[in-house]
Amino acid sequence: MNYLVDYHVHSIFSSDGHNTIMDMCRSAVNKGIKEIAVTDHFEPHISNEDYPFYNQKGYWALMTKAKQVFREKLSVKFGVELGQPHLFPEVSGAILEGFPYDYVLASAHKLPAGMDVSEIDFGSISEEELCSMYLMQLKELVYWNDFDCIGHLDLIKRYSADVYKKNISLTCQYELLREVLQLVIHSGKGIEINTSGLRQTPKETFPGFDVLKLYKALGGEVLTIGSDAHVAEDIGKGLEEAVDMAKAAGFRYITVFNRRKPGWVSITEEENTFGQVNSR
Ligand SMILES: [Zn+2]
Ligand SMILES: [Zn+2]
Repeated sequence: MNYLVDYHVHSIFSSDGHNTIMDMCRSAVNKGIKEIAVTDHFEPHISNEDYPFYNQKGYWALMTKAKQVFREKLSVKFGVELGQPHLFPEVSGAILEGFPYDYVLASAHKLPAGMDVSEIDFGSISEEELCSMYLMQLKELVYWNDFDCIGHLDLIKRYSADVYKKNISLTCQYELLREVLQLVIHSGKGIEINTSGLRQTPKETFPGFDVLKLYKALGGEVLTIGSDAHVAEDIGKGLEEAVDMAKAAGFRYITVFNRRKPGWVSITEEENTFGQVNSR
């Protein structure tokens, strides 16, 4: 695949981002990437329900400039990563009404009581309980419905790996996982392969191959790939591995978005449609 895309990157418009939008774009160009979605966090949570850190106008202005500066080398897409929008539907909906995004990722970073999933006491909860709790959040997220793809579907694997000394698999709650994936598919939404796990303790993407295969087997088609880079040097990391994984799971296309409408980029060698966004 020579039309590489990175559909999950963060700039300093995220509280945990380290580089400017321009730096992120420059890094993408240097790595031969053709298209990126800058998906800075809108992360409301209990006691910070409006999340004023999110500077939508500032983001929009610099993105517009970056689009112009890099127009011949890189397609730059307006994105956002909405944290737990199902718990904060009004403010999340207002963000989406504020500007016409190309791509909306929705992620469950927090539990309803406000705890971050990284703060769960993994030692006091079984793998089955953990997966059930997380999948119930994802189910509510899918019911909320105003997104394009779910971010890092088995994120709890990242934080539990050190305690359990292994990677958990959402397949331990197979029926619930299947229900969530079917809901995603039937509502015309998608998932991403998030490669940040390859750089962290799990050494595996989020989700792993097991979940990806099940998603495909159930009829899943909408699939993006993203590095979740928070620094410019991480842009593009793991994209090739993710493409190989997608192919091994049976995907022939990955998805890109324009004003929230999906387009398709071939990842198979025989179809020489690289760089073209096709309607199938
Ligand atoms: Zn996230
Ligand atoms: Zn992210």
